[in-house]
Amino acid sequence: MLFFRSVLFLIFFMVLTLLTQVGGIIWLAGYWIFRIDFFKRSFNRSQRILFQTGWYLFISLLIIPFLATLFGRVPMPFGFNGPLKPRTLLTVLCNRHYVRPQLRTIVSEQVQRLADTHDGLHINYLDANFPFSLALPFGYFRKGFPLLPHLSHNDGRKLDIAFVYRDAATGKLSNGTPSAIGYGISEEPLPGEYDRPKACRGSASYSFIHDHWPQGAKADHRFDPVITRQMINGFARDERISKVLLEPHLTQRLKLVSPKIKPVQCGSVRHDDHVHIQL
Ligand SMILES: [Zn+2]
Repeated sequence: MLFFRSVLFLIFFMVLTLLTQVGGIIWLAGYWIFRIDFFKRSFNRSQRILFQTGWYLFISLLIIPFLATLFGRVPMPFGFNGPLKPRTLLTVLCNRHYVRPQLRTIVSEQVQRLADTHDGLHINYLDANFPFSLALPFGYFRKGFPLLPHLSHNDGRKLDIAFVYRDAATGKLSNGTPSAIGYGISEEPLPGEYDRPKACRGSASYSFIHDHWPQGAKADHRFDPVITRQMINGFARDERISKVLLEPHLTQRLKLVSPKIKPVQCGSVRHDDHVHIQL
């Protein structure tokens, strides 16, 4: 029984670490606090779960941002008082919203510029990077701790951003995305556009999220090509941005001509549900 519990404990720790980088350590520290006799005796099981949750939130939301800043990464804004926000709170709770200060400045500037000309616009960011580099001398960890499943999001220079959508019924800016996490519901190639998803059909990763994510909410949203184009062009024209990743059929549809805008390989994941930018 003890062996079985230890294995479960280890699996939970590893999954939490892969998903949140430091979440496993935070949880482990909270767990050990309750190994102390005083705490063990003073609190019942539900109080301990409550404390463990509070402990995780306190360290994640207040201590980690401060420590990350010391090591050169800053959290993206929460969206309380600006047009830039995470698509889902999970991104923040899993410590997946950290970037280099310069990238946060660029995105904030560009998004504010857009919001100044489009009343009520909010832009959703998706996965960024973890708070700390933690580079290790092997495999995908050489440049830093990768933010799975995005292997390249390891150096604080990368950020995924959702497209802009309108409510299909009212035509108003939706400020959300068809998919609750931002990924998985794509702007598919139209007849006459280059069909890269078809060309990459044999790849296990390319359409994985798309093929497994429920597509029901797609009909409620309408892609806004005008504002999305302005947003992507803004990033591509910024000299501090070195690369933008987007599927070729959208580059074609939005008439984007910057040489910085590139397609991804079939071995990666498709970029017709979000745009990827990097320093
Ligand atoms: Zn990306």
